[in-house]
Amino acid sequence: SLEVFGPQKPLDLGRGMSIGGGKMAVMAGPCSVESREQLLETAKGVASSGASVLRGGAFKPRSNPYSFQGMGVQGIDLLKEAREETGLPIVTEVMSPEDVEWLAPQVDILQVGTRSMQNFPLLKALGKVRTPVLLKRGMSATVDEWLQAAEYILAGGNSRVILCERGIRSFDKSTRNTLDLSVIPLVKSMSHLPVIVDPSHATGRRDLVAPMCMAALAAGADGLIVEVHSRPEEALCDGPQSLDLPAFDHLMGRISRLMEAL
Ligand code: PEP
Ligand code: MN
Repeated sequence: SLEVFGPQKPLDLGRGMSIGGGKMAVMAGPCSVESREQLLETAKGVASSGASVLRGGAFKPRSNPYSFQGMGVQGIDLLKEAREETGLPIVTEVMSPEDVEWLAPQVDILQVGTRSMQNFPLLKALGKVRTPVLLKRGMSATVDEWLQAAEYILAGGNSRVILCERGIRSFDKSTRNTLDLSVIPLVKSMSHLPVIVDPSHATGRRDLVAPMCMAALAAGADGLIVEVHSRPEEALCDGPQSLDLPAFDHLMGRISRLMEAL
């Protein structure tokens, strides 16, 4: 039997943080780190609204090779500065197996993007470190394939994996992807790993982000990862699905009232 199966338990994220087993975490921040001003302004905003983790991509998996590819190492340095400034742990995507070893000690959570879920050399490299991994579901991956991808990391010796549903491909292009909310209770009945939801990439539309956050939490999600930008209209990536700071603040109020009711 695979290690990924078993009853729910909280996952220790380090820095006094945990997720799952009744602990809910909201990760928030820009799709991409774009500049010092943009990141610090957004980070301070999401921190003061009550986010528990700062997100921001430095190595971006863009479908088009001519799109902004991220700030790279400079982006990682800015995330560390934002962590220093706000006290929030940071999550960022790692795309290459060669980057895992040097990046792992610098960040609090390493994200595996939807396009990399079955990059087996990457998963094996993540098994060798002890940094928690946020494993997004492949956009066309079955639940079994997703859990087996998590198993690669666990089998390597890293037990800290968080699963993230971010929408799957369907026939309907009226939303960017199709959010599969049923996998939250399903996967939680199968696996001890926490499950969070990314309503930003699931819908591609900022007006649908708050309702899907509420639905995900009502369905039992252990957390959320939400794209927030201090100036969404100027974003180099995923502006249309990014909340501005006042919208995120309003959402956090709704989330805390919902959590009290659940
Ligand atoms: C992201 O989080 O910015 C991202 C690229 O997500 P995904 O891999 O789900 O598309
Ligand atoms: Mn994005």
